[in-house]
Amino acid sequence: MSLPTRLSWGRYPATPQAAHAAAWRDDVPALLQSLGKRYASTLPFGNGRSYGDSCYAESNHVIAMDGLNRFIEADWASGRIKAEAGVLLADVLSIAVPNGWFVPVTPGTKYVTLGGAIANDVHGKNHHVRGTFGRHVLSFGLSRSDKAAELVCSPTQNKALFAASIGGLGLTGIITWVEFQLMPIVSPAIDVTSYKFGSLAEFFTLSAELDPVHEYGVAWVDCLATGEAAGRGIYMVGDHARIGELEIKPSSKRSVPFVLPISAINNVTLRAFNSAYYAKQKAGKQQSRTDFEPFFYPLDGILHWNRIYGRRGFQQFQCVIPDHSAEPATRALLAAIARSGTGSFLAVLKRCGNIASPGLMSFPMAGTSLALDFPNNARLDRLLRELDVIVNEAGGRLYPAKDAHMRGEDFRSAYPQWHEVEALRDPLLCSQFWKRVTQS
Ligand SMILES: Cc1cc2nc3c(=O)[nH]c(=O)nc-3n(C[C@H](O)[C@H](O)[C@H](O)COP(=O)(O)OP(=O)(O)OC[C@H]3O[C@@H](n4cnc5c(N)ncnc54)[C@H](O)[C@@H]3O)c2cc1C
Repeated sequence: MSLPTRLSWGRYPATPQAAHAAAWRDDVPALLQSLGKRYASTLPFGNGRSYGDSCYAESNHVIAMDGLNRFIEADWASGRIKAEAGVLLADVLSIAVPNGWFVPVTPGTKYVTLGGAIANDVHGKNHHVRGTFGRHVLSFGLSRSDKAAELVCSPTQNKALFAASIGGLGLTGIITWVEFQLMPIVSPAIDVTSYKFGSLAEFFTLSAELDPVHEYGVAWVDCLATGEAAGRGIYMVGDHARIGELEIKPSSKRSVPFVLPISAINNVTLRAFNSAYYAKQKAGKQQSRTDFEPFFYPLDGILHWNRIYGRRGFQQFQCVIPDHSAEPATRALLAAIARSGTGSFLAVLKRCGNIASPGLMSFPMAGTSLALDFPNNARLDRLLRELDVIVNEAGGRLYPAKDAHMRGEDFRSAYPQWHEVEALRDPLLCSQFWKRVTQS
């Protein structure tokens, strides 16, 4: 019988992963042993919202964790919740919001599992206030092939594995359950204020002024604008509304039904979209109250939106540049992207704060992050190399969760802690990403 297969979100590399399902937490140790022994290595697979090859096993045989989707305990007085590792943030929100709680950190999609959120130590629009997801984790269960019993990892128990697994890319063991702290809210609605800005310098001024006084802050940037308009965009800040109902409004979902033969994103569609989107925003400041879903998850409204990039898939480029070099390096990155004429509708600039993660190999650092998607085509490699040089010279780094191209030497110098993670890696777990960046 052939197994179902999984791909990463970018559908590149297009290496289908045979998915061996874990239905119960007790299945995990036996699956890890049997797959590890049969294929030499395996890897836990969450919901495949990583873009590149960090969620691919070196062997192409993964343990599908989405069957571990049960809640274990919730204390609505303290906001502590314990659930299996395959539970999605979407599921957590559906039970937490009516009880007056919200996830303290959320990425730009709610379709990520708790295990995946820890393994990439995900960050969101409030990184400057709350740091990464790992900061809110109280404990988790970890199954390793070299330990007879499951380990409980927390800031006080199995501390080294706790730190190495947060941002540990699924290599240090399989997380079976997670206990974490939610954030209290009065309403899930978000009071949003948007500011149109005409240049990159204005982006930096706005973020310095606005981030300290708002929970959430992020900017859309027109990645094709040049000359005086380079770096223009829209800055959005938000806070949970202080009045309202604790309910989740049903949202309609559309779907891209099949993979398009070629990418629908090209210079013409992108330029037209960017100009129209920028022109639509009125000058000055605009205020509105919005449901939390369109604010946090604008792309989740279109299921399978990754199919619009066609059969060749796409790559996301996300870097973070430290504060001291952020402005000139971001300017250089945007100039190189605009010259290339390629990019995505959703190019995002975000100032990250200086709140340290408990994880060893977390991506964010105090600085500015730029993220955007590129359709795969023959010219992309050259552009990515050009961008990598700018990032390296500025002392920045790329995000493994989004990566399919980083050079090994760049990874190893940007993440010197990789040695510590390697020392604690489960001998039967290895990803294609890890092999690529540690052995080339
Ligand atoms: C539209 C979109 C927006 C995004 N926005 C953001 C953002 O704002 N910020 C951000 O940080 N990220 C963002 N991401 C990336 C995404 O949050 C991460 O890649 C996340 O880790 C994906 O989780 P997943 O459950 O899909 O895991 P997968 O993608 O399936 O796996 C990710 C990693 O987790 C490991 N893993 C999965 N389950 C377990 C487990 N049980 N035990 C141990 N390891 C495990 C895997 O081995 C792999 O290394 C975004 C992705 C998309 C598609």
